[in-house]
Amino acid sequence: MFELPPLPYAQDALEPFISMRTIEFHYGKHHQAYVTNLNKLIVGTEFEHSGLEAIIKNAKGGIFNNAAQIWNHTFYWYSLSPKAKAAPEGPLADAINSKFGSFEAFKEKFTAACVTLFGSGWAWLVKTEDGSLDIVQESNAGNPMLKGLLPLLTCDVWEHAYYLDYQNRRPDYVTEFWKYVNWEEIEKRFL
Ligand code: MN
Repeated sequence: MFELPPLPYAQDALEPFISMRTIEFHYGKHHQAYVTNLNKLIVGTEFEHSGLEAIIKNAKGGIFNNAAQIWNHTFYWYSLSPKAKAAPEGPLADAINSKFGSFEAFKEKFTAACVTLFGSGWAWLVKTEDGSLDIVQESNAGNPMLKGLLPLLTCDVWEHAYYLDYQNRRPDYVTEFWKYVNWEEIEKRFL
């Protein structure tokens, strides 16, 4: 049985970027529902005793959607921190400068990926097979690990991620997102 992973901070810790009310729904209802649904869907299937990543890599349809959404949301919560530093350092900072020219240019390109993604989905910073960086958009429950890419950072741009706090203003949600990116965690994922 899969369980809802604990949040790495208090439910009000990301205010005012993400309100406690949004966390109560997004984590407590949506993320929990993916866990509950997956546990029901895998009963009696070949995935009943599989790990989450194996399910994501091999399942289709509802089992894939719920498994990937569990993974994506956990990764998203751990991509954020109430005590974030403003920018990455070390090898990740070097890789960002090498690929995008500057941290500011990277933020502009990632923001555009968030804002222009049509419908529901996720924007990702990934490490490619040659060790450099890229930005990809994934619709719905998509995850770039299925393309051989290593996820480093994600922004959830499903409306449920921001609608209570920002209504239709997805660009405002993404502007605030940058103040809470857990760069120490993203640096570790890059190594
Ligand atoms: Mn979400």
